[in-house]
This record gives sequence, C-alpha cells and structure tokens, in this order.
Amino acid sequence: MDFATTCLHGGYEPKNGEPSALPIYQSTTFKYDSTAEVAKLFDLQAEGVFYSRLANPTVDAVEQKLAALEGGVGAICTSSGQAACFIALLNLCRSGDHIVACSNLYGGSINLLCVTFKRFGIEVTFVDQHKSNEELAQYFQPNTKALYAETIANPSTDVLDIARMAELAHAHGVPLVIDNTLATPYLCRPIEHGADIVVHSTSKYLDGHALALGGAIVDSGNFDWAAHADKFAEFVEPDESYHGCVYTQAFGKAAYIVKARAQFIRDLGCLQSPQNALYLNLGLETLPLRMERYHQNALQVAKFLQGHPQVVSVNYPNLDGSPSYELAQKYLRDGKSSGVLSFVLKGGFSAGAKFIDALKLVRLEVHVADIRSCVLHPASTSHRQLTPEQLKNAGVDEGLVRISVGLENIEDILTDLEQALAQL
Ligand SMILES: *Cc1c(COP(=O)(O)O)cnc(C)c1O
Repeated sequence: MDFATTCLHGGYEPKNGEPSALPIYQSTTFKYDSTAEVAKLFDLQAEGVFYSRLANPTVDAVEQKLAALEGGVGAICTSSGQAACFIALLNLCRSGDHIVACSNLYGGSINLLCVTFKRFGIEVTFVDQHKSNEELAQYFQPNTKALYAETIANPSTDVLDIARMAELAHAHGVPLVIDNTLATPYLCRPIEHGADIVVHSTSKYLDGHALALGGAIVDSGNFDWAAHADKFAEFVEPDESYHGCVYTQAFGKAAYIVKARAQFIRDLGCLQSPQNALYLNLGLETLPLRMERYHQNALQVAKFLQGHPQVVSVNYPNLDGSPSYELAQKYLRDGKSSGVLSFVLKGGFSAGAKFIDALKLVRLEVHVADIRSCVLHPASTSHRQLTPEQLKNAGVDEGLVRISVGLENIEDILTDLEQALAQL
C-alpha cells in the first residue's frame, strides 16, 4: 500500500459488521477463561493483551500503523516523546555505559541525556554532526551503546546525513537511533537510510491537532544483536524475569521491541493511553495532506522573512544557500521540509521578545508542529537551562525565534508577521 493508504488502513482491518473507525478499548484489563492462557501471556509464549499498562488493542492498532509507516517490524506507543527516547535508549544501556549524541537536539532530550542519564550512571558525549566520520570516530568508546540524532533538528532545522551516521554507528557495532519527530515518516523514513531505531514525539505532527501527548519507538528489525553479543548481552542471554526467555531466539527480528515492552513498559509503565492513541490515529489519517500544506506555508514564510530588513538570517532547509539544502534533497520527500523554521532578528534577545509580544494571530506556545501557527524564543524558554556554550552547540542564537507555521491561510500568517516586524 502507498503511504497515504496505510495512513487510513494500516493497523486495523474491520471484519464483517465491525466498526469502520478504530474502536477504543477503554479498559484497564481483559477477561480470560483459564489460568493456562494467562500463564502463556506472562511467559511471552502467546500474543494477547491482559493489562493496559503493557498493551491495549487500540494502542496496538496504532503501533502497527506506525510500524508500517516507518517500515519497521514493530512499535510501541508511549505516554510522551520523552518516554519514547528514555525507553528506546534504556533498552540499550545500563549504568556504566555510554551514548554518543548529536549536539543540536531538542532541549528536553539534552536534559534527559545530560542530567537524568548521568544520574543513572550513563554518560553521554555530544558531538557536532557536521564533523567527518574520521573525526567523530574518536568519541566512540568500548562501552558506547548507541548513536542518537534528529532527522531535522529542532530548532536549527539542520538535516542529518542519516546514511553517513548509520555507517559511523555500525562501524562501532552500535545502532543508530533517530528522533524523526519533525520530519515524520511522510517526509523521511530513516530506516530506509540505515537507521536501526526510530523514536517520535507523537505530540507534534503525528497527532497533528495539539490534542494528545504521546511518543513512539519503532524497531527496524535490522540490527544484529547476536553479532554484537559482547555489547548487547541482555538480548542474547536468558531474562530471568521471563523464565529464561532469550529475546533474539524467541523473537528474531523483533527482539529489541519485544524486550523494550517486556522489561521497561512493564516496569516503568508509560504506555500511551487508549484515548490518546485514538486521537493519534485520527491525526495519522490525514498526515500526508497536512505535511504538504505545512511545507507550502513554511516555504512562503521563509522567503518572506529572508527578504525582510529586520531579519539577519533564516534557517529553512528549502532556501537556496541553506547548509542543509543538499541533504534535504537527498533525505526528505521531494526535498520538502516541515512547517518548522527559525530566524534571527537584528535586535537580538530583546527584539525576539518584542516581536513575539506584538504578534496577534501567531501564538506564543511552548509547542512545535501545532496545527495553528506558533512561535517560541528558545533562549528564554525551551532551551533556558542550557549554558551559553550548549546554546551555541545546539545552534540557538540568543536572538533566534522559532516559528512553527500552521495550516492557516498564508496571507493571514504573513500579515501578522509583517505588522509585528514593523513594530521593531
Ligand atoms: C517535543 C519533542 C520531544 C519530546 O516529546 P514530548 O511528547 O513533548 O515528550 C522530543 N523530540 C523532539 C524533536 C520534540 O520536538
């Protein structure tokens, strides 16, 4: 099936007389006739749901749709994007391990990696993705377990050279984990370029209506855990908490995603709720239509800003001369980027704040990829915990404004930006 068809039909196929729209199973638990059946579920020997902390039929359908859209063998929908990132990496690392991550990540991911993972005894080295693989190789250590990066970085909009990063990760025997939030599988399918694990904040374009928080982890099924058994012993050795189950033997290509659910969704409990999965599914149904329109609107906003005397620079991968132009052509569908762009105002920090306060239609929101246009001043909000050096590495100038262009009429958006710029 084509992408747009999978958005509508993936994950749920009603049988004769069953509802056309995905039904919601708003239930914490499920009834069984025999202890033998439940025992099999507990030992991972049968498929089925018994408690919505681990799995739920509504969530399951959306997981299958997302796995199909990304081209993976399985997926887990989590309660937030942060939870997805956390579990995706915790499934690979433990205390004493190390991660290499690109430095221009979403602010929340940087905090999770720098602060919370450090407390867990997991060290992270942040690297500049623009360096050559020869230079980047020196940051990998014997205890490195993953390379982590974003397809389109937020807010710098840098496009990642995914194939090159995959080559780098694989040369060091570790999987490439990609946050594909801003691109969505409509614009980019990282697995086709060598990524092993894909994570999402589904709170953004996938939900698409700013309704429901959520995240997702998709497993490509391509990483050979048994071939790197020295690094990934938990995949090839018996898990005593499941009567000695060996994930690579019992689940083959799905070892990673089954282990993530069996160990961490079980123990940490951050599966997406059925209600939020229902909203997410509704958003997924129209994803291709919305992404095209986001791109059209954002490109016009980018061109308008680029020509404005108050603007120093505009970051949008589709602008001529953008450092990401070639990579966007290589990795994004028809070279098209998302609705997110950022720009630097001449007046720096204070101009950024004044501009945002003058906007009438475009809203100040701690959000990105909303259906309505919204702006944020990262240096004073989403990235305020970062040091000046971390800000610089994340590509965040103090006068940088991030704008997430929505689906309003383009003339209304441009009129609002113009009147706010005129007040500077
Ligand atoms: C928002 C976001 C996250 C975090 O997701 P939540 O759903 O807010 O927890 C992670 N990565 C990127 C790129 C994001 O934009």
